[in-house]
Amino acid sequence: MNHTTDVIVAGLGAMGSATLFHLAQRGVRTVGFDRFGPPHTLGSTHGLSRIIRESYYEHPRYVPLVQRAYKLWADLERRSARRLFHQTGGLMIGRAQGVLVAGALRSAREHGLEHEELSAAEIHARFPGFVVPSEMGAFYEPRAGILDPEGCVEAHLQLAAAVGADVHVEEPVQEWSVSAGRVRVVTTKGEYDARRLALCAGAWTPALLDDVSVSLRVERQVMHWFTPARDAKLFSPATCPIAMIEYAPDRIFYFVPDGGDGVKAAIHHEGEAADPDTVRRDVDENDIEKVRRLLETYLPFAAGERRRSATCLYTNTPDGHFLIGPHSRHSEVLVVSACSGHGFKFASAIGEAVADIAMGVPRPDLEPFGRARLLQSGHVRSVG
Ligand SMILES: Cc1cc2nc3c(=O)[nH]c(=O)nc-3n(C[C@H](O)[C@H](O)[C@H](O)COP(=O)(O)OP(=O)(O)OC[C@H]3O[C@@H](n4cnc5c(N)ncnc54)[C@H](O)[C@@H]3O)c2cc1C
Repeated sequence: MNHTTDVIVAGLGAMGSATLFHLAQRGVRTVGFDRFGPPHTLGSTHGLSRIIRESYYEHPRYVPLVQRAYKLWADLERRSARRLFHQTGGLMIGRAQGVLVAGALRSAREHGLEHEELSAAEIHARFPGFVVPSEMGAFYEPRAGILDPEGCVEAHLQLAAAVGADVHVEEPVQEWSVSAGRVRVVTTKGEYDARRLALCAGAWTPALLDDVSVSLRVERQVMHWFTPARDAKLFSPATCPIAMIEYAPDRIFYFVPDGGDGVKAAIHHEGEAADPDTVRRDVDENDIEKVRRLLETYLPFAAGERRRSATCLYTNTPDGHFLIGPHSRHSEVLVVSACSGHGFKFASAIGEAVADIAMGVPRPDLEPFGRARLLQSGHVRSVG
């Protein structure tokens, strides 16, 4: 049987759940599918915490989008009556000329954002859990903090369903095609017809994309939780900021204070290429050792017993920026989920923007995240 709707959302993780919510609350008929039952631990949106920060070192162009996301996360907290965000402040630690400190400063200056510059001694005096070599310093921003990724997905899905979205879990999209301006979607349980399709499949995007012009690389990532070895109160989110540390040029390690499950620490990127269906989910000594050493160096009292580790997936574009926008040959299909390991914080605002685009509302602010950027920089080939 062929079911007709207005917009289909394939994948209901961070981006898909937000997209579904923003469409449904405008009264748009929408059906969302997920291959599993989100929130789950097999994609890119698990692990109890995601960092949100405003002075975006990656590029100042992200700042307005993250500012909108902050507003929408607060709105989601109100609507769902759940605490989803904890403000902790954030330290970007590294050499002054490194990508982290210099990049965050550039964003802060360009957008007039509140911040401080701290020397290594000042970091330690203010946040005694951190021990930073004297040749490094930090950019401190007060608005940074922690989002609850599983809670955000759950809240978006519940609220979307409450205003009429049709949520289908354990129902993978198998294929899609476009004909006469309509999109036909085949799942394991049926066939559906819609005006628009939003592909929000995260690490499974390459399998659904059918667009040879875009090269996406899925990357295995491992996060670890440690019990502080001593002075646990130094690592409480009430007093301890999130931190990103550029421990070598362009190599970043990050830290999240202990919200009850231990401090979380991981390396940003540097993971092996992976396929979401066959990725190595077990964790070995190599995965643990480097993170432990970094923790011992920069937060020595935090580096106690390892409680657990978990694998997760990044979906990377060639330049590390987002890929959000229409499919190269089918404007009815929007590609949403290639956020190169830093997308969660934006999900609320991306969901709203994708809902706008699906409804024909122009979003020129999203143009820098479209294929044209990759095309100009020679990262994608022109097709069709
Ligand atoms: C370890 C780790 C740490 C991170 N830390 C941060 C951070 O601190 N701050 C930050 O902003 N970002 C962070 N990120 C990045 C961020 O979490 C991701 O960019 C974001 O969660 C990706 O969301 P998504 O919706 O694209 O993917 P997902 O949330 O994985 O959603 C994709 C969904 O699509 C479903 N799906 C797949 N194929 C199909 C199909 N054929 N049919 C139907 N459904 C399908 C999957 O089951 C899944 O639920 C981190 C990522 C990782 C892995």
